Amino acid sequence: MQTGGPRLRIPILRQTNIRRLGIREMNNRPCVLCIGGHDPTGGAGLQADIETAAALGARALTLVTCLTTQDTHNVIDVLPTPVDAFRRQRDTLLADLTPQAVKIGVIPSRDLARAVAECLHGLPAPVVVDPVLLAGGGAALAGEEVPAALCASLLPHTTLVTPNRAELRSLAHHPDESDAAADLLAIGADAVLVTGADEAAGDRVTNTLYRRDAPPVSASWPKLPGRYHGSGSTLASASAARMAARDTIAAAVEAAQRFTW
Ligand code: PLP
Repeated sequence: MQTGGPRLRIPILRQTNIRRLGIREMNNRPCVLCIGGHDPTGGAGLQADIETAAALGARALTLVTCLTTQDTHNVIDVLPTPVDAFRRQRDTLLADLTPQAVKIGVIPSRDLARAVAECLHGLPAPVVVDPVLLAGGGAALAGEEVPAALCASLLPHTTLVTPNRAELRSLAHHPDESDAAADLLAIGADAVLVTGADEAAGDRVTNTLYRRDAPPVSASWPKLPGRYHGSGSTLASASAARMAARDTIAAAVEAAQRFTW
């Protein structure tokens, strides 16, 4: 409905059956709240989240933490959303819609980490955090203060955090993977999926799921030829979409790895 400003002319959709079915189907889908950055190439960030959620039968709600300038090789710059504008988007959306899972990607600053954390307190939904710090091409997507802010503000509300090995070393300062994962569990995450694609040697990629009350579970996948952009976003949003459909953490992680591969 137009409530002010210039009137927009919106063409009426003629295929009314298709439109009605579409709306009914959307309303029946679990919602995944995706909080992260815009990648104009469509490979990573919110666009990967939207496509992944749709492919797995969920609907993505999106809150934008930053616009980026990038191509398929690297990120050139990051423009964070003003924190007040982010809070308005957040409050307006959550007053209207309730997500069944949350997926968090790029958080460019400490203040945005806090603004994201504020909405997690009251949400009875699993939270998946992909702690993105650098783009695959090496450029920073988050300020130097962000690893500490993620640990302080977000990990205590997190169901699953999905660092690659380099991100794990930035969050927990242990050279040993299982000690570092144990640190993130001690801070408050229910589970840590350490992904291995960034430092895979040989022809396999191994990802390991650490939980507080169960032994680690590793899954090894044949390494695909070529370089990929957006696989981390896809893995985390697929995990969130499966959790929105009430999978356990282990089942969601298994299905998400298969989907991403
Ligand atoms: N841009 C945005 C908005 C992202 O969220 C990410 C990763 O999550 C990237 C760029 C970098 O993607 P990749 O590391 O796959 O190149």
